[in-house]
Amino acid sequence: MQTSNHAGTDSVWAGEEKLFAEGAICVPVFNAVTFGYDDMNDWFDVAVGKKPGHIYSRNTNPTVRPLEEKIRIMDGGEEATSFSTGMAAISNTLFTLLKPGDRVVAIKDTYGGSNKVFIEFLPRLNVEVCLCDTSDFEAIEREVQKGCKVLYVETPTNPTLKIVDLRRMAAAAKAVGATMVVDNTFATPINQNPLALGADLVVYSATKYLNGHSDVMGGLVVGKKTLVDQIFHYREITGATLHPQSAYMILRGMKTLELRMQRHNENGLKIAHFLAAHPKVDQVFYPGLESHPNHAVAKAQMRGFGGMMSFSLHGGFGDVCKVLESLRFAHRAASLGSVGTLVGPPRTTSHVELSADERANAGIPESLIRYSAGIENAEDLIGDLVQALGRV
Ligand SMILES: *Cc1c(COP(=O)(O)O)cnc(C)c1O
Repeated sequence: MQTSNHAGTDSVWAGEEKLFAEGAICVPVFNAVTFGYDDMNDWFDVAVGKKPGHIYSRNTNPTVRPLEEKIRIMDGGEEATSFSTGMAAISNTLFTLLKPGDRVVAIKDTYGGSNKVFIEFLPRLNVEVCLCDTSDFEAIEREVQKGCKVLYVETPTNPTLKIVDLRRMAAAAKAVGATMVVDNTFATPINQNPLALGADLVVYSATKYLNGHSDVMGGLVVGKKTLVDQIFHYREITGATLHPQSAYMILRGMKTLELRMQRHNENGLKIAHFLAAHPKVDQVFYPGLESHPNHAVAKAQMRGFGGMMSFSLHGGFGDVCKVLESLRFAHRAASLGSVGTLVGPPRTTSHVELSADERANAGIPESLIRYSAGIENAEDLIGDLVQALGRV
């Protein structure tokens, strides 16, 4: 297997054999549900894990495995496993690690689905959930010090791009023996490696930047082998398995991950600077701007700031609609991290379940626009924003 110290090389080669059956240079898609053995002893040895091989595709599959290896190598983890969606990866991880009576500390600004697991499903299992103000690192440390089984964070966050200090949180978790889980979906291994900063597990929605083309869903978990093995076991039994065809699509998408992230980073920075100087724009939320309250932390733990940002207008929701409906190079749709620019208001996308008051409490203005800059030409995207903002 070919690996290197460079993400651009690993995104192409890591986890993949040099040649497959018949000399194929791409990972074949093994759609087989089950794998046959002529020798009953061999079958038994593989089934009990004494010999490498595959038994049944809910557990392992030879197309899925190279994808798990690729993300494991790119994140510098000991082991990795995969899921049908990002939310399956996140919920299975939490359900594996937490049992009744345990306490979990997390932040208020997690992804909407993750937030629902914290406020709706974990309390039902008698797990105590403590959600902290995302930017108040001291408050998070204080809650962790009180004792917890898991510290769960996400950085940058959705939709206001808050930053959590990962080294500092890892130290707090370590001091009380808590497992620290980081959702690294926005940054990807190209921009940020939470395991190198002290996290125990990293979770991904591969649906976003990793696949990058908004045409397949998936989830990944990487980190300490003892933990990932337990999470794999939970998944092989409960069954939120990644389909081999989806694994192939993510493997193919990941070959251009470094190239795409470089462009997302460049476009993100240019567009954020443009918006920050625009008279119709009130606030811009982007960790690459010096005006971001945790720009220094972002710079210390990220190699690039990505293509995700949000901005608010001086006008109200009517102006938001006018701008969104005027954009030509943007899909008005949920999701993010695709080659094509995606835009939407949080009240329709990430925070649709909240009332206007709850969104205000969460620091999400009604005039906010979430913007996932694609890999298009930056001048075209900025020109498009110029004409759309000109309508209000
Ligand atoms: C989209 C997303 C998820 C959920 O992933 P799915 O693949 O949609 O299940 C989790 N975390 C973050 C940060 C996301 O953006």
